[in-house]
Amino acid sequence: MHTPTPGLPEFDYVKPASLPEASRFLAEHAGQARPFMGGTDTFVRMRDGFWKEKYVVDVKGLDGMNDIRFDPAGGLTLGAAVNMNRVIASPEVKAYYPVLAEAAHTVASYQLRTRATIAGNICNASPAGDTIGACLVLRARLRINGLNGVREEPLDAFFVGPGRTVLQPGDIATAVTFPLPPKGYAARYIKLGRNAIGDLAIVGVTALGYPDQSVPSGYRFRLALASVAPVLLVPAEAEAVLAGKPITEATIGEAAQAAMEACTPIDDVRGSARYRKLMVRNLTRRAITEVWEQLTTGGKHGIS
Ligand SMILES: Cc1cc2nc3c(=O)[nH]c(=O)nc-3n(C[C@H](O)[C@H](O)[C@H](O)COP(=O)(O)OP(=O)(O)OC[C@H]3O[C@@H](n4cnc5c(N)ncnc54)[C@H](O)[C@@H]3O)c2cc1C
Repeated sequence: MHTPTPGLPEFDYVKPASLPEASRFLAEHAGQARPFMGGTDTFVRMRDGFWKEKYVVDVKGLDGMNDIRFDPAGGLTLGAAVNMNRVIASPEVKAYYPVLAEAAHTVASYQLRTRATIAGNICNASPAGDTIGACLVLRARLRINGLNGVREEPLDAFFVGPGRTVLQPGDIATAVTFPLPPKGYAARYIKLGRNAIGDLAIVGVTALGYPDQSVPSGYRFRLALASVAPVLLVPAEAEAVLAGKPITEATIGEAAQAAMEACTPIDDVRGSARYRKLMVRNLTRRAITEVWEQLTTGGKHGIS
């Protein structure tokens, strides 16, 4: 008989003293070792028998991985191991990147968020990852320590498929870096779950808008959709609609329709594909409308 929660299998806990040592260990044990931070995905997947690693490598205490640093000229550097409650409480995140806090706040419960990290959410590469959309529209990059040194990966080319990324054996995410956000921007994350807390998104819509006189509408919008494609989806056609003509209720409706047409959701226990598509249209319309209201009536963010 299948036991749904059989308990954790045996494994070795490894705590390297430095990033180079950790990368070396992970590369030498490729396929058998996995880095972890909060462990909220890792230990659940191991408990349920999907992951069978011999070694789990604790990287959360390594260099700078617990720091939050904001530079008014350069942007935000969020150490990969900073938990989501710290992100939500950060004055800099609240002031300049509030949509990141808004998205983190929709993840499970306070208790889980004392462990869960934004970088773990990204590396886990679930199409339902709640904080990934905010990172995408804020143009975040993942800083990675690999065998050949440090590099930064833009997120738009990071996800390869559900649970799959461009990370190679030995790669360790050390920070998520955010450039300064666009001047006078506003942003929102709207999540539809089966209940108000503690559920993965049936659909999640992140919308960010800002003034830009170089496009016909005078405003650019960035959108990201969760849970409606194998990876987070950027509906480029919808973004183009919003850049191309004056922003009215009809334009917003057209963009929402384009977002719906771009997505390829699946049926699962949380919702049917058809329901997801319709909810993408509704929630995209709502998210853009709310951002538009903030842009035109105050309540904007960023550095002016
Ligand atoms: C009860 C419950 C509710 C949840 N609810 C939600 C929800 O509402 N929304 C949501 O989006 N998620 C949810 N999750 C999933 C999970 O909490 C998030 O994905 C979380 O952000 C993962 O962060 P972590 O630090 O715990 O990751 P970990 O489990 O430590 O790691 C996740 C993945 O990233 C890899 N990894 C970890 N650290 C690194 C690193 N430094 N470099 C490279 N790879 C690394 C690991 O090998 C693993 O593949 C839930 C999980 C549980 C158990």
